[in-house]
Amino acid sequence: MSNLIRFILIFSLMGSMACKQEAPKTKVIDLADMDTSVNPSSDFDNYANGGWKKRFPIPDEKSRFGSFDLLADAGEFQVKNLIADIATKKHDGGTVAQKIADFYNTGMDTVKIEAQGLTPVQPLFEQINSIQNKGDVMKVVADFHTKGIYPMFSFLSDVDQKNSDMMVAYLLQGGLGMPDRDYYLKDDDRSKEIQAAYQIFLQKMFVLSGTDEAGAKTNTSVVYRMEKRMASASMTKLEQRDPQKIYHKMNLGGIQKIAPEIDWTAHFQLIGLQNPGDFIVCQPEFMTELGKMMNEISVDDWKIYLKWKVISSLSSYLPGTFVNENFEFFGKTLTGQKAQRPRWKRVQGSTNGALSEAIGQMYVEKYFPAEAKKRMLDLVGNLRISLGDRIKQLAWMSDATKSKAQEKLDAITVKIGYPDKWRDYSALEVSTSSFIANVLQARNFDFKFRISKVNQPVDRTEWMMPPQMVNAYYEPTRNEIVFPAAILQPPFFYLEGDDAVNYGAIGVVIGHEMTHGFDDHGCQYDKVGNLADWWTADDSKMFKERTKVLANQFSNFTVLDSLKANGELSLGENIADLGGLNVAYTALQKVLSGNEKSIDGFTPNQRFFLAYAHLWAQNIRDKEIVRRTKDDVHSLGRLRVLGPLKNMPEFYSAFNVKEGDSMFLNEADRAVIW
Ligand SMILES: [Zn+2]
Repeated sequence: MSNLIRFILIFSLMGSMACKQEAPKTKVIDLADMDTSVNPSSDFDNYANGGWKKRFPIPDEKSRFGSFDLLADAGEFQVKNLIADIATKKHDGGTVAQKIADFYNTGMDTVKIEAQGLTPVQPLFEQINSIQNKGDVMKVVADFHTKGIYPMFSFLSDVDQKNSDMMVAYLLQGGLGMPDRDYYLKDDDRSKEIQAAYQIFLQKMFVLSGTDEAGAKTNTSVVYRMEKRMASASMTKLEQRDPQKIYHKMNLGGIQKIAPEIDWTAHFQLIGLQNPGDFIVCQPEFMTELGKMMNEISVDDWKIYLKWKVISSLSSYLPGTFVNENFEFFGKTLTGQKAQRPRWKRVQGSTNGALSEAIGQMYVEKYFPAEAKKRMLDLVGNLRISLGDRIKQLAWMSDATKSKAQEKLDAITVKIGYPDKWRDYSALEVSTSSFIANVLQARNFDFKFRISKVNQPVDRTEWMMPPQMVNAYYEPTRNEIVFPAAILQPPFFYLEGDDAVNYGAIGVVIGHEMTHGFDDHGCQYDKVGNLADWWTADDSKMFKERTKVLANQFSNFTVLDSLKANGELSLGENIADLGGLNVAYTALQKVLSGNEKSIDGFTPNQRFFLAYAHLWAQNIRDKEIVRRTKDDVHSLGRLRVLGPLKNMPEFYSAFNVKEGDSMFLNEADRAVIW
């Protein structure tokens, strides 16, 4: 399921991009990126990245800026060139080029957007206004779902976690306006500040939508009360990391029983799922609470809540006043961003979202060299062998579990660059009528695509990320690792670089993704992607003890003032970073076979660790530190450098780390997992 898939990416998606175009880095180990006045054994992050951090302050439009943002920015300009070429020409109706051009151009036409005002969302408001009873409320909810507006709960189709050959429908908790339940429920000062700002934001948005001040105030308290009640019934991020806890298979009768106040047969019919069969309810208690809310809350209050869902879902595509208020809260207040990204970047992002593989196909043709794919396949092959060798040698694991682990490793599917089969966009209608109309068309096109997959065999050729995205993922239900074309560039991948830097950068990323199959979450899936226990009880206990060491280490890192990192939430990512480093280091030693020749004064092993650290060169705003510590399963860049390296004696040898140094941990305190 997409929200779970997002848990396992190497980075959270990079929403914001820099304002100036920087060529991607070509010099591999650059002294200008480093601060050699810092001792590597006291602070390896500042030693490796201190120069970079000084040279690249955070642009106003960002809340965080790292070395991979430079690559993402460069990629964004590559896509800009592709789109600019298309958007300025005339095209035959129905072609992909016409769709890209019209989508982008309607988004850029602010004169028309201002003149249209709320007209494009008026039909949605009218649907709400015509609601007479609770049955009508659910009819509108169903229709909104088909338009990608999700009041109350979320819906998606994905691989059945316990029958990984088949796709099923999932119902998930949802309906909130802020990013997570904790935003409503925590009562520390920062949370209270955000809660107050959110209610002011709601009030302003209602006023902008035509409600008078007094009405906006009332509406705000209605919506906030309802969202807070949904938040209270929601599972925490940490609880949702346990896949068994969010797997509840049931049929229509089952859901009718846990939330009898809602007519589920009618709902599924209205969204176009005539025969849902068995589906998965991730949070049954949440659905029960929704049922109760349906009974207890008045039709008028539901209408207010639905109106808010329309506004919040579409505010980015409305006139400037809406866009700006949206930025005030989600940008400034939540992440500390100082300025909005330029309009072309935002519109390009939406176009990219609507026609991602169509643009991806063009991107690959223009920018992805065939040699990159070949070199990657070699790297992946060597990394796979190394992880296998390491599994064989694990002292803490029994032979029975080792052979299961090896089988799972052998079964991992590898996808590099771009999909073999591209998505067909011929049924997507894009016109020049309005930006919002195009956004809703694209969402509906996507919804129909998802729903058509329910109860069908899994399409294993499908990709969850387009080729133009700087990212990579492991997907446990498919047991596959996937590397889009855009990540195969510096600082991740150096086509002309030596082995040491490539193993330290993209090699660790590959090892990281492979290790996700064996982290605290991924290890619960077997070789064909089913949620099934293949561990002996003793091995499972040993594994948990070992991962606990790593979780505790991270929970002891201070990230800001008295705030500590969340070692439990980020455990899977930290296991994958440490595993990735170990596996890539082992693979490199084989390739080097004793060749210790230095380049620019650094040994191959030093270059390996410097290239790794450089991936996480990063500046970040305080508000963003607080937000990510709560929301993000990935550790902050600095901790991704310091945390895993402290557990590696190979790193100690490369940089002469000794007892008493800050980078040093006693052998008994180190985590040894994969
Ligand atoms: Zn990851």
